[in-house]
Amino acid sequence: MAFDQEIERRRTFAIISHPDAGKTTLTEKLLLFGGAIQLAGEVKARGDRRRARSDWMKVEQERGISVASSVMTFDYEGHTFNLLDTPGHEDFSEDTYRTLSAVDSAVMVLDAAKGIETQTRKLFEVCRLRDMPIATFINKMDREARDPFDLIDEVEQKLALDVTPASWPIGMGRDFLGCYDLLNDQLVLFDRGKGDVLTESIQCSGLDDPKLEELLPDHALEKLKTDIEMVRALCKPFDIEAYLEGHLTPVFFGSAINNFGVRELLAAIGKNAPSPRPGKALERSVTPTEDAMSGFVFKIQANMDPKHRDRIAFLRIVSGRFRKGIKAKHVRSGKIMAIHNAQLFLAQDREVAEEAFAGDIIGIPNHGNLRIGDTLTEGELIRYTGVPSFAPEILQKVRSEDPMKAKHLGRALEQLAEEGAARVFKPNLGSDWVVGVVGPLQFDVLADRIRTEYQLPVKFEATTLMTAEWVDGDPREVKKFVDANRASMAVDHAGAPVYLARNNWHLDKAKEDYPTLRFLKTKEEV
Ligand code: GDP
Repeated sequence: MAFDQEIERRRTFAIISHPDAGKTTLTEKLLLFGGAIQLAGEVKARGDRRRARSDWMKVEQERGISVASSVMTFDYEGHTFNLLDTPGHEDFSEDTYRTLSAVDSAVMVLDAAKGIETQTRKLFEVCRLRDMPIATFINKMDREARDPFDLIDEVEQKLALDVTPASWPIGMGRDFLGCYDLLNDQLVLFDRGKGDVLTESIQCSGLDDPKLEELLPDHALEKLKTDIEMVRALCKPFDIEAYLEGHLTPVFFGSAINNFGVRELLAAIGKNAPSPRPGKALERSVTPTEDAMSGFVFKIQANMDPKHRDRIAFLRIVSGRFRKGIKAKHVRSGKIMAIHNAQLFLAQDREVAEEAFAGDIIGIPNHGNLRIGDTLTEGELIRYTGVPSFAPEILQKVRSEDPMKAKHLGRALEQLAEEGAARVFKPNLGSDWVVGVVGPLQFDVLADRIRTEYQLPVKFEATTLMTAEWVDGDPREVKKFVDANRASMAVDHAGAPVYLARNNWHLDKAKEDYPTLRFLKTKEEV
């Protein structure tokens, strides 16, 4: 296949939803279409254990499929889909936000009984900042649901988005009969309990097709006709430009667990969702079909394969073609890396990447030289922007329960910091480390990971520290500041100086005394 076509047929997307709306179930069903039925079962098992404290731990427990759960690549009807997983719990939003920097479109899953929930809204806002196209899947129509007009009205009002129903439900709950596919004039009948098979839809020539009279009870058909008349009067018709610009969302109704409505959703992503979009580098905009390969790291995951202590850097390819053995420039260090062992995440398996294209995600095993936000290119010095970094909001001390293992702990923390799981600071005085996170649940997860991955029991303890701020400016001035504030200074995992402030007064005073220095709540990743 020609180079341009390879890129054109790629669809790289993520599913955003509030916990419990059905993201895991929908993912499983999407994989059925990709022919990865076995894995689909495994994802389901994962979903059933979702009561675990967090998605991240769930991933930890099932290390075997954790790779596949980060990125899943599958083919369906001429398209290559890269589905990126986003952790659902709000303490892990950092990871989610970074993942959203690596996709071209999103599917928003809503629970039909609940509509827009808090996490849906937050994640939607991130997508909106990036003008990302969003398709909406209203799930669980097999249960008592809210009125469909009510639901689309809520999406329109709360998210300030135009809405076009792409399908329309016929009944709900126990009386759910199916959907009318408005984009393709098809009747799709609901067959309860057929979650693991692919059912066929019935072609119709519009709502007056006599077939509909045979297939639907009179009252249901009548209601469908009135509903659709109203839909056509009230809603804008589907406009692909408005969708691509992120102003309009097509809405699909379905039931993920029954694999209902999923095919229509996937077909629409194939047909309408964007192929890889241009990349934004500081220096210029980069077109996916440029010859030279380039990409950025949006996620690092440590020790995914217990047999190897490697870390995997997830690289979103922005332009060109990746080939095994490619010599890529690591822009931050200026070094050339020959990449022989990158992995592709096919839904069924992990596979050494011989070749990959703009839009794809590859996993590069490395020993810590790749960091979140890094750019790799075939030589040109460009730096991609847009991988967000977050200010640590809660600071705690961490101590190894075995004092002999302090050094070990340092190494574990550095790795977790590079992975982006937490901010880690080594104070100039004392032997404890300070860890900064965005959500408190992250401490539990860190303690658990340090225990299982590094065999180190650790304790987190509250501190009186209020904030950690990176100190930036003229090196001589920075040194002067560091020397004058030794007891409040630390370094981050990369050795950069950080001021640990006990309260606002100290911080304001520092700023006042050193007006040329910059105090930063987040460290730029580039
Ligand atoms: P996630 O937290 O968004 O990943 O949600 P899950 O996929 O784990 O689903 C949450 C719960 O809703 C699980 O118990 C699912 O079995 C259930 N569920 C998912 N889809 C449907 C559906 O279409 N109908 C019904 N009745 N339940 C569903």
